[in-house]
Amino acid sequence: MKVCVVGTGYVGLVTGACLAYAGHQVVCVDNNAAKVALMQAGQSPIYEPGLTDIMQAAMQAGALQFTTDLAAGVTHGEVLFIAVGTPPLPTGESDTRYVEAVARGIGQHLTTGYKVIVNKSTVPIGSGDWVRRIVLDAIAERSEPVTAQFDVVSNPEFLREGSAVYDSFNPDRIVLGGSSQKALDRMQALYAPIINRCFAENSDLPPVPVVTTDLSSAETIKYAANAFLATKISFINEIANICDRVGADVTQVAQGIGLDSRIGSKFLQAGIGWGGSCFPKDVAALVHTADDYGYEAELLKAAVSTNSRQRILAVEKLQQVLGILKGKTIGLLGLTFKPDTDDMRDTPALDLIAQLNRLGAKVKAYDPMYLEDSHGFHTVPDQVILTSTPEQLAENCDAIVLVTDWQQFQELDYANLAQQMNLAILIDGRNYLNPETIAEAGFYYVGIGRPAAGNPLAAMRSLRQQVPA
Ligand code: NAD
Repeated sequence: MKVCVVGTGYVGLVTGACLAYAGHQVVCVDNNAAKVALMQAGQSPIYEPGLTDIMQAAMQAGALQFTTDLAAGVTHGEVLFIAVGTPPLPTGESDTRYVEAVARGIGQHLTTGYKVIVNKSTVPIGSGDWVRRIVLDAIAERSEPVTAQFDVVSNPEFLREGSAVYDSFNPDRIVLGGSSQKALDRMQALYAPIINRCFAENSDLPPVPVVTTDLSSAETIKYAANAFLATKISFINEIANICDRVGADVTQVAQGIGLDSRIGSKFLQAGIGWGGSCFPKDVAALVHTADDYGYEAELLKAAVSTNSRQRILAVEKLQQVLGILKGKTIGLLGLTFKPDTDDMRDTPALDLIAQLNRLGAKVKAYDPMYLEDSHGFHTVPDQVILTSTPEQLAENCDAIVLVTDWQQFQELDYANLAQQMNLAILIDGRNYLNPETIAEAGFYYVGIGRPAAGNPLAAMRSLRQQVPA
């Protein structure tokens, strides 16, 4: 099938590349000429495991092209995906201006035939009908007759950054919302190779469930899914904060409750809060929609406020151990909101950097994705000094905060890192490391909702040795 994907970010590029790899003829459109040039050269502008390989394979097979020319994409596609960003406005609403621009552009360039326009972006509930209206208005403004017909389908995306390619070929479900059977049938045909697990890790599993709904239910499913997951994390973080006060260990509590099949063990890792480009904005948008319709979403608001506090909990823990932070040097181990991505949008590291700077601390960071001042299309705030190795990070630090659970942080030589530091203090913001191992390496280990490990006085010894007698 001929497919056009507008917007080649984490969702659009992965969707376009996977559909091309699965045998469709895909044209990806982006209005960022620098990104398009990079992709035309076979390079991905984002870091996503496995993406470059499938992109290059699909390009070599002649199934995947990149352009800035929306008209060419619209003419090509029988299915037109809108996959542009919907970032948050200060009010919590989604900024839908990019979706609007693409919908108008589609209306300006439709000519003949029948097209299915697909909202893949996470859009406010009701956007399916809104997109239809914008396309119709753009068609009406044209002087020439337009014979093209179209339907709008909502097809929310559930991929996780860091395993987006895997998720695209192995989805838990595909959600299709719309009222036109013709459009829904076309979408089923488009996804047939994925539904039938032709590219799945385990092709023997039954077909991927397809949930077919009306437009606004599909749009709501996306928000409800993210709001549930965010709330589940806020829940375990709240339990962790109680554990901290009563001396319990939240990792054991999570194991104990997670084995209950009604609860499940996923998204029960306590830490320094949720972030990234989706949870914060999607929960805020759902709260805003509820407000718009006269309902106060108290549970979701509580999940958000628990998270805001949690995102700077590491600062509180640093204060408890170090006292005054002014003049101290704090190293952040990791910057991204989770491992295996370069996405810096709304990562808790940003709150930590801002707060530590405000309190007069110097902030250094090591992240395998950000060894230089800027990387790709994301930038790191000026107030943080980037280092190229964990050892450089540790040098003269008064404490390290593990922000991101990158796999390689399990294997660091912590005894060596402790030697480089003024004070060997480690705040494990993801409960990712083994407290005893880290304590044996010479650190005073502080986790989230679990007992500390190690000897704080020993961890301070190196500083005392520097003080003249
Ligand atoms: P992104 O910011 O990474 O990418 C958006 C792309 O759209 C950019 O490359 C930008 O240049 C391009 N663009 C903007 N306006 C354009 C226009 N008028 N014409 C052509 N291209 C244009 O965004 P993303 O993270 O891929 O998210 C896209 C949507 O998918 C959002 O609504 C998001 O909420 C949703 N979503 C994201 C994820 C995720 O993990 N990132 C997961 C599920 C759903």
